[in-house]
Amino acid sequence: MANPMADDMRRFKSSDEKNPFEAMSERFDRAAQLLGLDPDLYAVMRVPSRELKVYIPVRMDSGHIEVFEGFRVQHNFARGPAKGGIRYAPDVTLDEVKALSAWMTWKCAVVNVPFGGAKGGVICNPIQMSQGELERLTRRYTAELFDFIGPDRDVPAPDMNTNEQTMAWIMDTYSMHKGYTVNAVVTGKPIALGGSLGRREATGRGVLFCVNEAVKRFNLTPEKTSVVVQGSGNVGGIGAQLMYEVGYKVTAISDVGGGIYNSNGLNIPQVLSYLQANKTLEGYKEAEQVSNKELLEIECDVLAPCATENQITSENADRIKCKILAEGANGPTTPKADKILHDKGIFVIPDILANAGGVTVSYFEWVQDRMGYFWREDEVNQRLEEKMVASFIELSNLAELHNVDTRTAAYMLAIDRVAFDTKMRGIYA
Ligand code: GLU
Repeated sequence: MANPMADDMRRFKSSDEKNPFEAMSERFDRAAQLLGLDPDLYAVMRVPSRELKVYIPVRMDSGHIEVFEGFRVQHNFARGPAKGGIRYAPDVTLDEVKALSAWMTWKCAVVNVPFGGAKGGVICNPIQMSQGELERLTRRYTAELFDFIGPDRDVPAPDMNTNEQTMAWIMDTYSMHKGYTVNAVVTGKPIALGGSLGRREATGRGVLFCVNEAVKRFNLTPEKTSVVVQGSGNVGGIGAQLMYEVGYKVTAISDVGGGIYNSNGLNIPQVLSYLQANKTLEGYKEAEQVSNKELLEIECDVLAPCATENQITSENADRIKCKILAEGANGPTTPKADKILHDKGIFVIPDILANAGGVTVSYFEWVQDRMGYFWREDEVNQRLEEKMVASFIELSNLAELHNVDTRTAAYMLAIDRVAFDTKMRGIYA
């Protein structure tokens, strides 16, 4: 008899190592098979619920109208409102947004927050746009999505090239259309508008908490641990800063243009102020310049890719020389690279756990907005630590129990939770 699951898997297969949706699906398939996932649940869970494509007219500063293409993919609602960031970038694709939306579903399930997954993207070049153009783009994109987002439907947040200001515009536009202020429609807002203390630092802090747990397993202490960070934005920059503060030796860091390396450790606060002042790491004294590619191959205890997808592939995986890989970015490693890293014995803290600190504090922000009562920063951080550490332990135990790698264990944990809830609700088919 034909196996519907196998047929379905073939239908989605292709040979592009760097297609993020295929990368996600490959991991999903493996975990689903190991779990013996019911074929009906499998068919429902491996595809998004809804893919929206919108065309966004924007009046540019020059006076003419430019039309931008935008997406919002809502992957799953089984456990609650869909949740996930919005990215602005020239090379955003629907497949990328689809993958990112699914990763949000799995991420929320791994840390056990009651959300599904979504992601948005707009094809634009934010670096070349004025604040006014970005504001008009954001407001019109929000208006296009008006019927699909909301505190109980889908709650956007910042991602690449979007920030607190972007969230404030979305919140305001949505509220204007509603006729009253709805601050729980987005997270990652400015504190004054219902944002949460600790949200800005949350993803980097989550990476730190995971690294702390992993390092203990290697009998290392922060002082004895060298860390290489790719990226210096909200995840990499803040993650490096927090790791530096607790005593880790951060030997390399980069931004889009390239990185710097000093085997004795970098003074991260100084590096970040240099970057802020000069908009580049080039020319930073006390360090050797390295490319983003070279940076990944530096010998270190912890390598934290905190920038973008497809950084570790079958091409460079055998040259990665870390003990622990802490995936601050979404999808930095391809499935082909996974196998190579596994054979090398590298301990991977998979993205859907390592960078889940952001959405965890987004959940806290949403809760605080709905209560209208706000927590102290130390309360937020403590709750974040509890969730991250509990999930790390759960995932490591599962990996040992099933004798699988940590990424597969993370998918198994997530899929099992979503499957359980979907089954309880029943499929309305
Ligand atoms: N963009 C972040 C992520 O990829 C945060 C999403 C959120 O807080 O909803 O996890």
